[in-house]
Amino acid sequence: MIGAVDIGGTKIAVGLVDDCGHMICRVEAPTEAERGYAAGLEKISGMLRDLLHRTGAALAGVGIGSTGMLDPIRGEFLDVDFLPGWEGKNPVEDLSLAFGVGAAIENDGDAGALAEAYWGAGKGKNRLVYVTIGTGIGGGIVLDGKLYRGVDGSHPEIGHHVLEASGPACTCGLSGCWEALAAGCSMEKWYAENLPGGRHQARAVTARGICELARTGKEFAKRAVEREGTYLGLGLANLIGMFVPDVIVLGGGMMQSADLYLDRIHQVIESGCRFVPAEKTAIVLASLGEHANLIGAATAWQHRYGHLAAS
Ligand SMILES: [Zn+2]
Repeated sequence: MIGAVDIGGTKIAVGLVDDCGHMICRVEAPTEAERGYAAGLEKISGMLRDLLHRTGAALAGVGIGSTGMLDPIRGEFLDVDFLPGWEGKNPVEDLSLAFGVGAAIENDGDAGALAEAYWGAGKGKNRLVYVTIGTGIGGGIVLDGKLYRGVDGSHPEIGHHVLEASGPACTCGLSGCWEALAAGCSMEKWYAENLPGGRHQARAVTARGICELARTGKEFAKRAVEREGTYLGLGLANLIGMFVPDVIVLGGGMMQSADLYLDRIHQVIESGCRFVPAEKTAIVLASLGEHANLIGAATAWQHRYGHLAAS
């Protein structure tokens, strides 16, 4: 059994995953990052010990997925906004020591990509790009069963390629990034700023709310959905042009309304990408659902320690 740890800004989830990517059990607790790294580590260790005690399982290793910048090779957190004071701390060494097994950490986009490549919608595909569209846009790339890494193990940020140089400013320093145009927050912001008379409306509408309004036929919501599908399609067309993968797996909260965007996405891709066989790239929805992050964390450990056959 593999111990899986998913560290997010608001909650930490810990689970046990078997060696075929099945979630066996899980628990969650608030992150409470402000209480410091030592308290966080103690919380994670306690949750994992409880699960092992409860199931009587033997632990093979520990895989960690975390949002934010980290050094997967050294196992350290880098400067992560939502984990103040955790920079330079090494949960890989610490959990390895605490449980007497090997541990590994990956960015959660990379972990999700590995999970979908081995156990999910991308199973058996050699070239996979995973995109998660939620409050931001992230993802990972798996080629021939191996995670693609940048220099020094860095994580490529596929949400930060520029689609419109004159577009809205992005947190990364550029303007008009895919994330700044098509993430859930960006859709909400555009809707609030452009809705006729919208600035006077007291209530902010969520991306999910906009989709619901579009389903009831509200014209401006339908425009927002159309715009969203267009930008999703443009970003995906870029990924197809650059990688020509076998499959692009789409996950994240925004994809709960995927049926509203998919036609437009395919239209945009079909209208371009003339120099690559874009029709051979399958666009599919992620299949691991709410357990994707924990299964991804476990798969990250399997990937690092060579417990996965190349797909
Ligand atoms: Zn950006």
